[in-house]
Amino acid sequence: SGDLERAWRLMREVPDFPEPGVLFRDISPVLADAEAFRAVVYGLARTAPDADLVLGIEARGFLLGAAVAYACGTGIVGVRKPGKLPAVAHRVDYDLEYGQATLELPEGTVAPGQRVLVVDDVLATGGTVAASSELVRQAGGEVVGAAVAVELAALGGRERLAGLNVHAVFTV
Ligand code: 5GP
Repeated sequence: SGDLERAWRLMREVPDFPEPGVLFRDISPVLADAEAFRAVVYGLARTAPDADLVLGIEARGFLLGAAVAYACGTGIVGVRKPGKLPAVAHRVDYDLEYGQATLELPEGTVAPGQRVLVVDDVLATGGTVAASSELVRQAGGEVVGAAVAVELAALGGRERLAGLNVHAVFTV
């Protein structure tokens, strides 16, 4: 659609962020544009029509995830970097390309048997979506899909998440 083309044009590439040699995809201008934002949100919302909860990953996954949840008529839960939540239900440590990271699931959110759609801005190696999916499973939920605005295909996230229904609005 025209609005998705508009979103594509609004995506920025920032060389050497967060470190030399990395080409960072910045969706901030997409989110700031009404038509582009709506087109991306509806693109994400189509991933798993049967989801009954959306999980957004800190921090840009919060912005997209809440809008997707509203569009789908579900609730929203944010998984967070360590030390931000007053009550943690589950915690997962995972490896990044360089170093380690941790994500935490708030208490009182994912219920056993719930069908959860994971939302983030960018899929790179897939480690972040895999860790979020693990949090859902620890809580007894089922991950019915992962929806991202941009998939960086060369980094192999889709292969790492084999078996999961992965949908990307844009693939680069
Ligand atoms: P992964 O765990 O798939 O390697 O990395 C994905 C996570 O890192 C996501 O939470 C995403 O926000 C962030 N990330 C990695 N590369 C980029 C990028 O080029 N642009 C943006 N906006 N986020 C990125």
